[in-house]
Amino acid sequence: MIIILKSNPDKQQLENLINWLKSLNLEIHYSEGKSKTILGLIGETSVVDMDMLLALDIVEDVKRIQEPYKNANRKFHPDDLVIDVGGAKIGGGNFLLIAGPCSVESSGQLLEIAVSVKNSGAGMLRGGAFKPRTSPYAFQGLREEGIRLLVEAKKATGLPIVSEIMDASQLPLFEEVDVIQVGARNMQNFELLKELGKISKPILLKRGLSSTLQELLMSAEYILAGGNDNVILCERGIRTFETSTRNTLDLSAVPLLKSMTHLPVIVDPSHATGISRLVKPMALAAVACGADGLIIEVHNDPAHALCDGPQSLTPQAFDELSRNIRQILPYAYR
Ligand code: PEP
Ligand code: MN
Repeated sequence: MIIILKSNPDKQQLENLINWLKSLNLEIHYSEGKSKTILGLIGETSVVDMDMLLALDIVEDVKRIQEPYKNANRKFHPDDLVIDVGGAKIGGGNFLLIAGPCSVESSGQLLEIAVSVKNSGAGMLRGGAFKPRTSPYAFQGLREEGIRLLVEAKKATGLPIVSEIMDASQLPLFEEVDVIQVGARNMQNFELLKELGKISKPILLKRGLSSTLQELLMSAEYILAGGNDNVILCERGIRTFETSTRNTLDLSAVPLLKSMTHLPVIVDPSHATGISRLVKPMALAAVACGADGLIIEVHNDPAHALCDGPQSLTPQAFDELSRNIRQILPYAYR
C-alpha cells in the first residue's frame, strides 16, 4: 500500500500517522520527493482501513498494490483447493454436478428427483427449504420440514445435500446438511458470513445480484478469515439492463476467479438465465470455460413447480445434459 501525502504535511500529524501505522506492525518506507512525500507500507496491509487514511488532512491519496483479500488469494495458495464432501470431490480437476429442485415440496417429489439425478450422474442433491422470495406472499419453503425431507433423500440415495441458510439462528437445523448455501441475496450478510466462518462445513457462496468479483472474494474472505477453509464460489448471473433473461451470465468470471483464487468455482445456469431451454447451452459453455462444477434446477413436473418452474429441467433433459457434459469435460479450458 502506498500513501501519498499532501505537500508540506503538518509534522505532528505525520508523526501520529507513522506511529499508528507502526502500531499495526507495518514497516514504513519513507520517501521525500521534490513535490510529494510518499509512505510505502510493507507488511499485512489488509488490516489497514483505506477510508480512515483518506479522511486524514495530510493524506492526498492511497493506493493498494496488493489485493485486500489474503485468505482467498491464489498468490498465497498456488494449488487448487479440493473439497471432499462425503466422497463427492470438487476442485483441482474434480468436476461436481449438483442437481435438484429449486424448493423441496414433498417427500415424493424430492425422492423421485433425487433418484433420477443420481442415475444421471449428479454427485450432490440441491433443494431449498428456506426460500428467499421477492414477494412475502410467494411460497417461502417447507423450512424445518424441508430440511428433514432432504436428509431423508440423502439417506435413501447416498447423495450429499446442499441447502440455503438465511439466518445464523437456523444453523442447528443444518447439522446433517453437507454443504450450506449462502444465496445471492445474502452474499453481503456479514454477520451470517462470520458465523459460517466458525464452522468447518463447506459453504457454497453465490455471487450477489450486483456484486463485483472482488466483493464476492471479500465475502469469501469473511468465512475464511474466521477459520473455515472450505468455500465454493458460484457465478449465478448478475443484474444488467438486459431483460430477455432473468440475469446475465457472466462467464468471464470463471477463468478470472480461478486466476484470482484457489477456491473452486461453479456456475448456476438456471438462475442465470431463468429459461429452461437456455440452461443446456450455458451449462456446456460453463464447462468449456473451466468451471469446477454446475448447480442445476431439475423438477419432475416443471409446469406445477412451486418455485422456478420456467427454468427447471425435466429429469430427461438433465440426463441428456449430463451425457453432453461428460463428452466435453476432457476438452475444457483449465
Ligand atoms: C437458489 O439457488 O435457490 C437461489 C435462490 O439462488 P440465488 O441465491 O442465486 O438467487
Ligand atoms: Mn430457484
